[in-house]
Amino acid sequence: MRHNGAVHERVMVVEDDPELRRHLAASLTEAGFDVAVAATGSRALEVAAKEPHPELIILDIGLPDADGRDLCQAIKAQGSTAPVIFLTAREALTDRISGFGAGGDDYLVKPFAFAELHVRIEALLRRPVVATDSSGIVLDPLAHGISGGNRRVDLTPTEFRLLATLMARPGEVVRRRSLILAAWPDGAAVSENTLDVYLSRLRHKIREIGTDSTIVTLRGVGYRWQ
Ligand code: CA
Repeated sequence: MRHNGAVHERVMVVEDDPELRRHLAASLTEAGFDVAVAATGSRALEVAAKEPHPELIILDIGLPDADGRDLCQAIKAQGSTAPVIFLTAREALTDRISGFGAGGDDYLVKPFAFAELHVRIEALLRRPVVATDSSGIVLDPLAHGISGGNRRVDLTPTEFRLLATLMARPGEVVRRRSLILAAWPDGAAVSENTLDVYLSRLRHKIREIGTDSTIVTLRGVGYRWQ
């Protein structure tokens, strides 16, 4: 999704699980970011205060010495304006709304595909997300729109999140529940009928820009961008 190596934004990963921390650091470096890591809240505060300051922070909510939400507030109190993506365990889903209250800009439920994280990062850094398939579709996080060829259509924030989640995993099945949780902060309360209404509107908008790519429904399983 990053087409030139001119800019290397600094991203800080705060995660106590050594395996996940290493995996994220390696994947982000591979994607062209300048990565700093911290395994604890106290280390994260030090790293965030030092030059170069992180421009985006990926923050695990469950840390050994701090609650990620308190840590987020502490980092912001130090003067950081970097957007924050919370990582949360599935068991802690009810925490997500208070996570947003604590100054988080987005969240991902573990386990997640790196492509999904990457799309969220690009969106928060307000860069266009280009489809990795042949559709030629570009998602514009700045204007919440999609374009292809010479046409462009506006999306609502929820439609944007739905499409970004599907486009992050081209050809892969995304389960209904995962899609709901990715698109709505209070996903637990969203019915599958509501999801269907949103997807049908989204398919209509995708057709308007004149591409063959679409969201395919696999009955009882989920959805696929193809
Ligand atoms: Ca943890």
